Amino acid sequence: MNEADALRAAALLESAGYQPTADAQAASLLLLNTCVVRQQAEDKIHSRLRYVADLKRKNPEIVVALMGCLMGRNPRQKQAVEQHYPFVDLFLPPSDLSPLRSFLGSPASARMPGDAESEALPLPASRSGQTIVAYLPVVLGCSHACTYCVIPYRRGREQSRPAEDILAEARALTERGVRELILLGQIVDRYGLDRPGEIRLPELLRRIADLPALHRVRFLTSHPNWVTEELIETVADTPKLTPYFEIPVQAGSDAILSAMRRGYTAAEYEALLARIRQRLPSAGISTDMIVGFPGERAEDFDASLALMERVNPDMIRIAKYSPRPLTYSARHLPDNVPEEEKERRRVALERQLRRTLTAKNAPLKGRMVEILVEAVEKNGRRYGRTPDYKPVFIDHSNATPGALVQARITWAGPFSLIAEENRSS
Ligand code: SAH
Repeated sequence: MNEADALRAAALLESAGYQPTADAQAASLLLLNTCVVRQQAEDKIHSRLRYVADLKRKNPEIVVALMGCLMGRNPRQKQAVEQHYPFVDLFLPPSDLSPLRSFLGSPASARMPGDAESEALPLPASRSGQTIVAYLPVVLGCSHACTYCVIPYRRGREQSRPAEDILAEARALTERGVRELILLGQIVDRYGLDRPGEIRLPELLRRIADLPALHRVRFLTSHPNWVTEELIETVADTPKLTPYFEIPVQAGSDAILSAMRRGYTAAEYEALLARIRQRLPSAGISTDMIVGFPGERAEDFDASLALMERVNPDMIRIAKYSPRPLTYSARHLPDNVPEEEKERRRVALERQLRRTLTAKNAPLKGRMVEILVEAVEKNGRRYGRTPDYKPVFIDHSNATPGALVQARITWAGPFSLIAEENRSS
């Protein structure tokens, strides 16, 4: 979501005549997009801002813009940041470019300014050459109160964008050469539920897949309770919808899932994955896990390891629990798993993942796969992804970014593949 927001800010700046530069000291405007989902991300912003403060002292002409979840949408939170960083010129709430628009003197959008729900977002520019894969936010904010999560406090309540805006943006992106769209929402499956009369995610996906120039469409992130049979059927029946699901589970112990207020049990999650795989045997499934949640005992963590061993996902993004301001867990549950133990659990889960993925991917060697080429690496190798979202490097290929190629896998590691284009076919 942050990447999508940052690209939109970059597109707006470029449309006003700004050029990107890799040299911060040469910039006339610096825009920092911020993430606070964990303390580590927040620490990074503060250290970056110390460096920016220094640049601003040397060159007071630089315009400094701060965007995203550090301020969030709450005026009090924004005020606290303003007081802490008086040298910042512009503050942009997450997914809201209106302060930047006013600064640039560009005509305010015809819709209500500052209302992220209806603001027609500009199109993202690419940072390096042709953009083949683009993120497209469809649900902003989140109203599901997972006890650990700061996102609802910073991105505000759940708001689906109007389908007509999304479709217009999707069409415009394909006209710029985009061949794959990734629809975004904190619980993307809930698309449309907050807009009476609006279409739902399966219909939105079908309409986007109808755009002739698009090769692939994905969506993320799913919440286990909102992945419907209709959604699974739509993915199975629509060739351009890739067989890929991102469904965070967060923990394998029911006691911890309940303390997180996730709203499902480990068995329900397992059953959902079984249904998806029964309908779509080739589906790639990735998930998120938090280790060291308050009260997580050794046996709770063992349940996480065991669940991941059983469901054998194609990727796990592992995070160590980090207490976040205003969240229920930060206010009411002591952060009582020591840092060394959190790190030990993170490493144990990562080791298991490396082992299971090595075994899972090994049989792919020799297999033909379809790859959407996204980029040409410095060494001439092509880079792209399989339908189930595995990253692949292609040797001996002359394919241009945006092309779909058939290639044979020559090496399969846990986290990436190498393939060779089959020129005899
Ligand atoms: N809306 C998605 C993703 C939210 S943020 C979902 O809820 O599933 C991305 C990931 O960051 C989460 O899936 C979770 O694993 C992690 N995360 C969120 N808050 C966290 C916290 N306080 N500490 C550690 N990890 C956290």
